[in-house]
Amino acid sequence: MSVCFPKLSRVAVCGGTHGNELSGVYLVRELQRCAGDGAHVNTLLCDTFVFPSPSGPISDTAPYEMIRSRELNALLGPKGSPKAVDLICDLHNTTADMGLCLIAYSDHDWICLHIFRHLQRQMPDIPMRYIHFDVSNKESYSLDSVGKHGFAIEIGPQPHGVVRSNIYTAMKFGVQHMLDWVRFFNSGTIFEGGFVDVFTMVKHIDYPRDRETRNITAAIHPQLQDRDFSLLQPEDPLFQTFSGETLRYKGKEPLYPFFINECAYYEKSIALSLARKRRVMIPAIRVDRT
Ligand SMILES: [Zn+2]
Repeated sequence: MSVCFPKLSRVAVCGGTHGNELSGVYLVRELQRCAGDGAHVNTLLCDTFVFPSPSGPISDTAPYEMIRSRELNALLGPKGSPKAVDLICDLHNTTADMGLCLIAYSDHDWICLHIFRHLQRQMPDIPMRYIHFDVSNKESYSLDSVGKHGFAIEIGPQPHGVVRSNIYTAMKFGVQHMLDWVRFFNSGTIFEGGFVDVFTMVKHIDYPRDRETRNITAAIHPQLQDRDFSLLQPEDPLFQTFSGETLRYKGKEPLYPFFINECAYYEKSIALSLARKRRVMIPAIRVDRT
């Protein structure tokens, strides 16, 4: 038995949602330059930040990012409508040593999970994880949530404002294998079911801060830096204060750290995020031929 899905005829690949994450910016430009040999794929260079709720009037004085996100919602969505593109892949970079991650807001979108498994098989040398942000009670504001299916590809480590060829190349192969998978799927390939490891985000941890000034008083501990996705046990070192003291992880449950020391998250009060790992059984899928 396999689960059937409609053909994925409109796929959008977006880079530059965060404009200083340069792998996606240059990759989308490259895809646009080569457009023609993949005519069924819409690529779009987008330069917005977050997706505010796509309803209600918008004033002339609204911030640029809000106006741009309305435009993108009109182009790729509208979100939740039959007109929305079938699949959105939004390209991001992180300064954390996370390898290649697919980040999605669902842990049961079989299209996204099958694409992830295909990438894992095609790129065995790249550390790869599927991260699930559970927003069941909240609306998600990311660009990839506008499509019928969608995810972000997050690759690091790469400093913001910098492009590193190894990271760029991993992203390029990831996107090529994703588009190959869509082609196989649309032409009737049956993808067998199986298991996928899913990292579900549990919580964020902020830096220790001075009560009055709110300045941080510690950095990520050297034993934790660049150890994304190695299990953090209770009492493992977490931070080293600027006076040299080690602060330890006080949680009761061992969890997987990621986005360790991400540059863009200092202002969001996130030093790292923690995830629980789970095995998800995915069914066989194929395109709906009717
Ligand atoms: Zn980003």
